[in-house]
Amino acid sequence: MAYQVLARKYRPQRFADVVGQDHVTVTLMNALTQQRIAHGYIFSGHRGIGKTTIARILAMALNCRNPIGSKLRPTAEPCEVCESCTEIKAGNAVDVIEIDAATNRGIDEIRELRDAARYRPSRDKYKIYILDEAHQITDAAFNALLKTLEEPPDHIVFMMATTQPEDIPQTVRSRCQHYSFHAVKLVDIMGQLRFIAARESIDADEAALALLAEAGDGSMRDALSIMDQAIASAPVDSTSGDETARPRLDAAQIRELMGTVPNAVFERILEAVDGNQSAEVITVANELLNAGNSPAQLARQCVRYLRNCVMAKISNLNPDGSNLDGPAAELLQISADEQRRAARSAALFTEEELTRFLQTMLRTFDELGYRQEQRFHFELGLLKLVHLRRLLPIEEVLSKFSGTPAAATPRAAAPKPSAGVGSPSIASASVRSAPAFAPMQAAPRPVAVAPPPPISMLAETPGAPSSRPHLDNKVGNRESDPASSAMRDVLADIYAGSSAEQKQAASPDADHLQQAAVDALMLARSQTTAADAIADAEFSLGGSELTVQTTHSKTMLSTVINPEAEKIVRSAIQTLAPGLKITLLPSANTTKPTSPKKPRAAASGSAQARAMEHPIVQEAQRLFNAEIRNVIDLTSSD
Ligand SMILES: [Zn+2]
Repeated sequence: MAYQVLARKYRPQRFADVVGQDHVTVTLMNALTQQRIAHGYIFSGHRGIGKTTIARILAMALNCRNPIGSKLRPTAEPCEVCESCTEIKAGNAVDVIEIDAATNRGIDEIRELRDAARYRPSRDKYKIYILDEAHQITDAAFNALLKTLEEPPDHIVFMMATTQPEDIPQTVRSRCQHYSFHAVKLVDIMGQLRFIAARESIDADEAALALLAEAGDGSMRDALSIMDQAIASAPVDSTSGDETARPRLDAAQIRELMGTVPNAVFERILEAVDGNQSAEVITVANELLNAGNSPAQLARQCVRYLRNCVMAKISNLNPDGSNLDGPAAELLQISADEQRRAARSAALFTEEELTRFLQTMLRTFDELGYRQEQRFHFELGLLKLVHLRRLLPIEEVLSKFSGTPAAATPRAAAPKPSAGVGSPSIASASVRSAPAFAPMQAAPRPVAVAPPPPISMLAETPGAPSSRPHLDNKVGNRESDPASSAMRDVLADIYAGSSAEQKQAASPDADHLQQAAVDALMLARSQTTAADAIADAEFSLGGSELTVQTTHSKTMLSTVINPEAEKIVRSAIQTLAPGLKITLLPSANTTKPTSPKKPRAAASGSAQARAMEHPIVQEAQRLFNAEIRNVIDLTSSD
């Protein structure tokens, strides 16, 4: 006898044999018993979960020659032995017409079908059309069919199987009974695989069956196809000396067949992530890649593993597996061993962290699809997990500041805005953090302070009137957010720096002039490069002459500080010190590139100086290994 694939050989012939679709089979059997037969059925759901199978069983049950309750057919199940049943089973019944709508989807084919449907069945009770992939039928063809569905002859039954029921026109859907099939549960698939292995005389351990069932991903047919392949490549166990040597399925062989690796490696990777061991993460990745595993496949498996960890976390699965029957069983269609593994990994992290990991690996997997250097992207994705672990939620960071004068400042004490004062100045400082901080973009919660956008700090420029109420206006619309309210306190405190202090700085010295020039360039927005150059330059005052010794070579200088920038610098300085002669000098050492040799000079009393002196800013700088690059005066941008 010719070899028959398992999915066909073990295709259910009775409703009771269909696995995992009880909600459909029970209803259909009740309808059959009560003789309540619809003229149109839609069976929808994923591939390989029994839609066409149930359509055929229903066709057999409808056309079975034995009445329900008779000796050969006590229930609504088909008798399987009458002429009609055997013909349908063999696929050569005249009155059951199976049409693959993927290839016969046009108006002509459907018209033909409609015309043929007018004639009575040649022998059996019903003329049954099973339309597979029904969503492929064109709209015009569906319209041609609609008339038949509106006034169906008594002898006609349409059964439409589809993976995309939403693509079937509503006019058609509303005239049919719609049955939505479920993905088959892991335990159900495993049960069927175990049954088939026993029938086929195949030795298979539970781990192997679980792997096959997991690979099926809710589809019985997919699981059986992989089982077919696994049996074909299985080593035959002849050690028993038995005449009839039995093929043996084991997990390692199935993994090799599917090109997957044991999930233990992902558990190991997450342990290394937990331990902040980048080297260990890369070592594991290297071993896997050198063994010939494809980065895309590894990333895919890693995504699935992380997804299971997230689900284990959400459903509070115990690492000892003591509550496997809880909500986890529904969410995690994996074997008990794998559930325990996922729970162990999940226990190392918070739900937020796991969610971020999953998001990062999903992105990595997406990117691998069209990238050249797949290996590097995979490694990068894994390293990002380590870096993500180092991130702190902003609430946690801000909570470290509690007890400082700023955090203790009661916001309620802010004075009311007084009318008639000049427009308050507001400056914004952008904090550039260490690179490890950048992946925070991926995090849903801490993103509020991740660059970009830069942390906006508010401060005042010299001589401006109190703009504290203004601060509240600017950032006070998120009262409920503790992070933003704490940040606002910090900002208010920076702002509250005495303005008397600044009035002392009346006569301009070199630092003041430099700061004024930098501030003016920062204001110009497009002059940030020039602002950096001026900030790095050495200002020296000699009588009525100001020398600006830059770090740029002669050729670079005109590019970095272009005529426009130079104009701004000159006008800013001359506003403070009219009549001063200004000389811009190129660097003496032409080979030396610009280097951040010192933090930007900040004139005492300026907004930047006060921001830098503030204990909270200093603490934040230390925590994030961050540097405040710019304090931008936003007055003109209002
Ligand atoms: Zn029958």
